[in-house]
Amino acid sequence: MSLGIRGKFVVGFDGVEHRIIRDGVVVVDGKRIKYVGKGYEGNVDRWIDAPTGLVIPGLINTHIHAATAPKDKGFIDDTGARHFYMSSLGENLTALGQAMRSSDYEVFAKFSLAECLKSGNTTILEISMVPNLGPEKAVKTIEQLGIRATESPIVADGVWDRTQVADLRTKWIGLESGLKKLDEAERFAKTYTGACGGRLIPAIYGDTVDKCSADLQKAIRIKANELKLPVTIHAGQWVVEFNNMIRMYGRTPIEFLKDTGLLGPDLIVGHGWAITGHPMINYPPVDGGDLTILAKSGATVSHDPLVFVKRGNKMHSHTAYLKAGVNVSIGTDTVPQDLLNEMRMASYTSKLADWDCHSGASRDIFNSATLGGAKGLGRNDLGRLAPGALADLAIVDMETFNGVPYRDPIKNLINSSQRSDVRWVIVDGKVVVDDGKLTTIDERKLLRDVQKAGEEIWARIPEHYYLKQTADEVSPLAFKLWDEK
Ligand SMILES: [Zn+2]
Repeated sequence: MSLGIRGKFVVGFDGVEHRIIRDGVVVVDGKRIKYVGKGYEGNVDRWIDAPTGLVIPGLINTHIHAATAPKDKGFIDDTGARHFYMSSLGENLTALGQAMRSSDYEVFAKFSLAECLKSGNTTILEISMVPNLGPEKAVKTIEQLGIRATESPIVADGVWDRTQVADLRTKWIGLESGLKKLDEAERFAKTYTGACGGRLIPAIYGDTVDKCSADLQKAIRIKANELKLPVTIHAGQWVVEFNNMIRMYGRTPIEFLKDTGLLGPDLIVGHGWAITGHPMINYPPVDGGDLTILAKSGATVSHDPLVFVKRGNKMHSHTAYLKAGVNVSIGTDTVPQDLLNEMRMASYTSKLADWDCHSGASRDIFNSATLGGAKGLGRNDLGRLAPGALADLAIVDMETFNGVPYRDPIKNLINSSQRSDVRWVIVDGKVVVDDGKLTTIDERKLLRDVQKAGEEIWARIPEHYYLKQTADEVSPLAFKLWDEK
């Protein structure tokens, strides 16, 4: 099927950088883009006319936990463990996780993927679906929703063990168990290469830098090279992890990744904010520190600001990473799976970090959410509108309360557009959001299912959580109830 899109603005890629084409046209033939420019004489099967629309490449999200994230909404906000430097990882996320059932994962995964698409996000590096739904259901969900997704089982040979109130350490469970998981990842990659019409991108997911031993990281590196797969691992994601790495090895998380050889151009570092020189880490950089190591390696950092901002943490300047030569991409991690919102947050946190309005510039943020993510995944056919690239794109209406008046559509997109302004989303040449509505799933039923799952999880918390607290004790409501004493 062929498709033509006429937009007020088209963000075309000229082979080097994005350019704005006023009154532009994009023509899609099958799965790929055939033409980008001004005017088109040929015929297509369907025209989408967007005379007030901004046509952008489908955004790339390099870190999302789709099957587990919706439970966090209204629950991790305004909370965090002071003894874990405000992180939720060791405490209230544990309470929620233990109260989930398999049917919850399924409905949450669908919801998260739907959220991504409705915010113009067409490719995701998704971390939770294979472990929680099983490979078959995970792939089926991606097939159904129509998104492009990277998937893998999670590989680790350690677990977090909370030994004391404020002490969480790595308990090693043996290299063999990690290697078994790595075999599973290889089987998954071999079984599902080409699945979902090529929209499924196999990868290898190391869990966290402090749950994968040096030997396991070396094994992951060998396997990734052999199978030519992108790799991701959480590293530099909280102060506790940074301190544990120093205590265990005398190396920072980034130094350790370099030592094991896992750090390389095919590695996406999940979060990567807790590094040398960061004010919360207070660990001195040597010879340029972690930023220089990251830059020299060619690795990509997945910058996922909102989840950290909520606990008073932040990456210390998107612009500083770029200036050091680090490839930065953007991810949502948890709710809301709204990359437009995340881009805005990345821009503002960078400005706040540098006390500088030029920091976190719209141009750099847009590049990170498109070309930066594509580079991280080793793809030159994503994150850009150019002939030959995959036909993943979104149309954002500018004639809305968020959009007008528009002169520079990219600055407006980063600073004021909302996901409700996203009218059409196309993945692999197929329209998956049509005039604001998902074509692949009943939206109303999905919302009801998610609400029901949330209510059931919160009710189950006291029976499963080892501290035996209720949902309202773990995460107090903002206001007291009317009839509460
Ligand atoms: Zn994560």
